[in-house]
Amino acid sequence: MTLHQPENNEHAERTRAERLARRFTELYGHAPDGVWCAPGRVNLIGEHTDYNDGLVLPFAIDRAAMVAMRLKSASDPAVGIADLASTYAPDGGDFSHAAFTVAELAPGSVDGWGAYPAGVAYVLSGLGGVVVPGFELLLDSSVPTGAGLSSSHAVEVATIVALNDLLGLGLNHPDLARLTQRAENEFVGAPTGIMDQSASLMGRAGGALFLDCRTLESEVVPLPLAEHGLSVLVIDTKVAHSHAHGGYAARRASCERAATTLGVTSLRDLPTADAAAPAPFLDALDQETARRVRHVLTENRQVLETVERLRDGDLSGVGKLMTASHVSLRDDYEVSCPELDLAVDAALNAGALGARMTGGGFGGSAIALIDATQLDQVREAVLRTFADHGLQTPDIFTVLPADGARRISLGS
Ligand code: ADP
Ligand code: MG
Repeated sequence: MTLHQPENNEHAERTRAERLARRFTELYGHAPDGVWCAPGRVNLIGEHTDYNDGLVLPFAIDRAAMVAMRLKSASDPAVGIADLASTYAPDGGDFSHAAFTVAELAPGSVDGWGAYPAGVAYVLSGLGGVVVPGFELLLDSSVPTGAGLSSSHAVEVATIVALNDLLGLGLNHPDLARLTQRAENEFVGAPTGIMDQSASLMGRAGGALFLDCRTLESEVVPLPLAEHGLSVLVIDTKVAHSHAHGGYAARRASCERAATTLGVTSLRDLPTADAAAPAPFLDALDQETARRVRHVLTENRQVLETVERLRDGDLSGVGKLMTASHVSLRDDYEVSCPELDLAVDAALNAGALGARMTGGGFGGSAIALIDATQLDQVREAVLRTFADHGLQTPDIFTVLPADGARRISLGS
């Protein structure tokens, strides 16, 4: 059984892009100006640190949103109507349409999936000297939605790189990351950090993105899975992260309050936690807030340690740190859920080198670092555990570190 459908294979990707361009032509009556893609991501380690100006180590995955786009009325921006279609229909139908007038966009004015491209058009329109005309867009994504693999940012990033190219805006990766964050925060209304878009923009095949969320300085650290005979398995628990926005906002607020109490701009300014010696300044906080802060400090340190382990080629050490990260997210940050804990425990019991929830939590996916020869064993164990607990069957598949967002050149 094939668990993995590689998409970073150039040929498969171009075939997919050409199919999308043909579909675009059928739908809109003319060819697109181009096709762009932007991957989803998993986070190897560094969770809930991005909005604390901290450190993260995600990688872009070989599942991506693809958009075909054509600018509509560059000469007459006053009628900047965007026409959108997605091959994925949240209501279960075949196809889903959306439309909006760029000049009339206001936060919350577009519902459903159209809010993501609209949010991008909105923030770009707010930049001095930038006029976003109407456009036609066709979206097709292989990033599962609501699984914590950041399908929403994949849509936003694919849209923004397309508009950046077509409008000749010349925005760099950090600019694009900050703008898509604003699209999601200000327009869609989800208080997400900067990690997901950055991974989607700056990820590289074969590596993880070591990103400082304060400066957006980044470095690709090789993640030689195949060389070590390893795979990264995603276990999508199918638990919608429906409490995510509320819980996420509460965690952010808690970190901001703690920073104020401790007299720092962000938790990044606190000394990195020593595993053995709990930081004395935590005594100034109530117990719950102290646990939240301890997670952030521990997690930043564990990102640094993971980068060191990767540099040393110690992948089993990476696995241990992943599991330690899960424990901290479960016990100190309290953003896991029973299904994620079960997925992690089942994978570890079946021989995984490490496992953790990935993404914001409260549902979504776990990842496990496993020996490639144990794929079936781990998969069966997780499926059996979920069945024994009467839970929905999870989706289980492997992912590879893939290249970040880019234009796809179509055949001549
Ligand atoms: P996640 O980003 O973890 O997948 P979100 O709830 O943040 O979950 O984003 C999922 C939303 O993104 C979907 O409900 C939909 O509005 C939009 N979306 C993502 N992929 C697609 C797609 N292929 N077609 C249409 N909408 C999509
Ligand atoms: Mg999202």
